[in-house]
Amino acid sequence: MAGDTTRTAYRTCPLCEAACGLELTVTGDRVVAARGDRDHVFSHGFICPKGATFGQLTADPDRLRRPMLRRGDRHEEVGWDEAFAAIEAGLRPVIERHGPDAVAFYLGNPNVHTMAGGLYLAPLLRAVGSRNIFSASTVDQMPKHVSCGYLYGNPLAIPVPDVDRTDFLLMLGANPWESNGSLATAADFPGRLKAVQARGGRFVVVDPRRTRTAEHADEHLFIRPGTDAYLLFGIVHTLFEENLVDLGALTGHVTGVDQVRDLARAFSPETVTGVCAVPAERIRGLAREFAAAPTAAVYGRIGTCTVEFGTLTSWLVDVVNVLTGNLDRPGGVMFPLPAHLRPQTRPGGKGFRVGRWHSRVRGLPEVKGELPVATLADEIETPGEGQVRAFVTVAGNPVLSTPNSGRLDRALGGLDFMVSVDPYLNETTRHAHVVLPPTDAARKGHYDFSFLALAVRNFAAYSPPALPPDPGGMDECDILARLTLIATGGGAGADPAVLHDRMLEEALQRVSAATGHPAADLRPLVNGDHPAERLLDVALRTGAYGDLFGAQPGGLSLARLLENPHGIDLGPLQPRIPSVLRTPSGTVELCAAPIVSDVDRLRAALDRQRDDLVLVGRRHLRSNNSWMHNVPALIKGRDRCTLQIHPMDAERLALTDGDDASVTSRAGSVSARVEVTDRVMPGVVSLPHGWGHDLPGTRLSVAATRPGVNSNVLTDELATDVLSGNSVLNGIPVAVKATGSATSSS
Ligand code: SF4
Repeated sequence: MAGDTTRTAYRTCPLCEAACGLELTVTGDRVVAARGDRDHVFSHGFICPKGATFGQLTADPDRLRRPMLRRGDRHEEVGWDEAFAAIEAGLRPVIERHGPDAVAFYLGNPNVHTMAGGLYLAPLLRAVGSRNIFSASTVDQMPKHVSCGYLYGNPLAIPVPDVDRTDFLLMLGANPWESNGSLATAADFPGRLKAVQARGGRFVVVDPRRTRTAEHADEHLFIRPGTDAYLLFGIVHTLFEENLVDLGALTGHVTGVDQVRDLARAFSPETVTGVCAVPAERIRGLAREFAAAPTAAVYGRIGTCTVEFGTLTSWLVDVVNVLTGNLDRPGGVMFPLPAHLRPQTRPGGKGFRVGRWHSRVRGLPEVKGELPVATLADEIETPGEGQVRAFVTVAGNPVLSTPNSGRLDRALGGLDFMVSVDPYLNETTRHAHVVLPPTDAARKGHYDFSFLALAVRNFAAYSPPALPPDPGGMDECDILARLTLIATGGGAGADPAVLHDRMLEEALQRVSAATGHPAADLRPLVNGDHPAERLLDVALRTGAYGDLFGAQPGGLSLARLLENPHGIDLGPLQPRIPSVLRTPSGTVELCAAPIVSDVDRLRAALDRQRDDLVLVGRRHLRSNNSWMHNVPALIKGRDRCTLQIHPMDAERLALTDGDDASVTSRAGSVSARVEVTDRVMPGVVSLPHGWGHDLPGTRLSVAATRPGVNSNVLTDELATDVLSGNSVLNGIPVAVKATGSATSSS
C-alpha cells in the first residue's frame, strides 16, 4: 500500500503442531511476507510452505469477516447483534424444551492452535452442560490419551521422543517429513532426524507406505495396516524371551511387568509375522537393536491411533519404552514441563477412568469428557428423549473429517438449529443457521497451551497481535464469551467483559487457595491488554518457572515473554518420574484391567481372515486436514488427491496410471484418479484426507477448482477402537474397479 510503513512482527505459526517462529513483514494493515524467524529459540529459522502463506491465509478474500445468517438455502451477511439475537432465539428454546443434551458440540483441531480455544471453550461447555460433546480427538488421537491415562494416571501426560538426544528412533505410523510432527512438537523435525544420523544414530520407519520420512530412514519396513500392535507385542515377547528387559532408573516405579510378560507369551514373532507381514527375524532384530542402543525411543502416531486396536498399540509403544528403561530418560521418551502449568510435587492421584456416561444410541462410553464422533449422526437421527436437535461447531469441518461423512452431512440437514464459529462457509458450516467468524490469526495474540506441553525441548513464547483489531470484526474470546452468556440466560446483548472478569477472578481465587495470597492483592499485579493475556499472565507467573507475582525474581510472566519475541529457552527435557504420575499407586501401572481385557480381543483376532485390499490415508506437506485448500500456493501443481495403488494390484485389477477408478466400502463410494506406485505395499490403496470441496453452498472458490474426493465417504462410523472410541480410518476394506469421471457418492 503506497505510503504505508513496513515493519517486522514475530509470531508463532499456528498452522500445525511444530510451533515454528515466523518473521512477518507487515505493511499497513497487511502481512505481506512470512519467513522463518532465525533467532527463534526452538525453530531457528525453519519454516515449511504452509507457514510461508500465513499472510495469504489470513487475508483470504473468501474468509468471512462478518456474521452470516441463513435464509433458505443462502447465507447473508448481518450485524453481530442480529446474529447473537438469532442464536438466542434458536438455541435457548431447544435447551429449555429438551434439556442440555439436545445441544451437541463439535470442536475441531484448530481450537488447539488458539488461546480462545484453550481458555474459553471449557466455560461454554460447562454453561450448556450437554453430555453430547464431540471433537477431532476421537478422529485422530484419543487412543494415546487413554493409554497414557491408564499408564500414568493422566491422559494429558504424553511422553515425547527426545529426538535431539536419542541414538535409535523407531517410528510407527508417523510421517513427520510431511506433517512436521504430531503429539510431539519438534520444529524442523526432518532436520532433527538428520541430526540423529549425523551423530551416528539410526531411525527406522514402519509404515504401509514408503513415505518421505521412510525414504530418509536408515530402514523402512512395510506393515499391514492396523497390525502394529502385533509387531510391538512381538518385540515385547522377544525382550522377555531373550532377557533384554532392563527398567534401569524406572525400577521401583513400575508395576505390572510380570503381567505384561504373561500377556506377551501368545505373540511370538513367529506367530505375529503372518498377520503384520514383518519378517519374524526382523522383529527379533528390532527388539535386540532397541535394547542394545545406549538410548532409544518408540514413537507412534496417526497410523497407530486410527485403527481397530489403537489404544493397545499406543500402550505397547510406551511398554517397549518402559521395558528397555527408555521412559523418562534423556534420549528416550520424556515428559515436557510447560511454563503455564504448576507441576505436582508428589506422585499419586485418582487415576483415570472412562464411561462416566454413555452415548444414548450405541451406548459408547464417555472418554475424557466427550463421546466418540463416530456416533454423532446416530444421536442426531435417532428420535427419542435426548435426541440432538441443535449443534454448535467451533473451528471444525466434520463433514470432511469424520467417518461416513456422507451420512453426517445428511443428518446435519435435519437439525432444528446450528451455529458455527468459523471463518469459512465450508462443507459443514454451510448447514449452520448462523456463522460467527473470529478475527484472523494476525490480529490475535498467541501462546501454545497445547503444544508447549508436547515440545521436545522446554521453551515458552508469546506473540502479541501483529495487526490492529478489525473495527467491524469480533475477537474469538468475545464470541465464545457471548455464546456462554446466552447459554446461561444472560441474553444476546450481554457484555462479554462480564465473563472475562469472572474467569480472571476464578483464576486468582485458585492461586489464592494455593498460596494464601488474597486474590484482591494479586489482581492489580496482573498484566495484559486482552482478557486472554491476563489469564496467561496468571498462569505463567504461577507456573513451573513463574515469578510468583514477584516472590521469585527473574521468573516468567507475560512481561518477560513480551521482552523476548523469539521465545525463552527453558532447557532440555528433565526426568519427571515419579512426581508426574497420578495413578492411585503412584507408579507406572502397566496393566490396567481394560488394557488386559482388550489383549484377549487382540489374541482372538490373530486367526482372523485378512481383507484383500484396504484403504489408508496420507498427509502432504502443503495440507493440514481440510483447512488450507483455499490458498492458491498450497494447492497448485499436480493433482495430489490420487488413489495410490501398488503395481501388482493395478495389474490384477486392470488399472493403469491416470485411469479413474471407483473405490467402494460398506459406507460409500468415490471415484478417484489412479496413481500406480510401489510407495504403497501390495494389498493397500491410499487416498489423502480433507478433500471433497465440491458440495453446494460453500464459499471456497480456490478449493472448488481442485475439489478432490472425500476419503471419509469411505470410512465406516461403525468401526471404532473399543477402549477409546476413536474412529478407524486406516485399514478400511474396499473394492476398486475401473470407472469414468472422478466424483463421490454415498
Ligand atoms: S511446520 Fe507447521 S508450524 Fe512450522 S511453519 Fe510449517 S505449518 Fe507453521
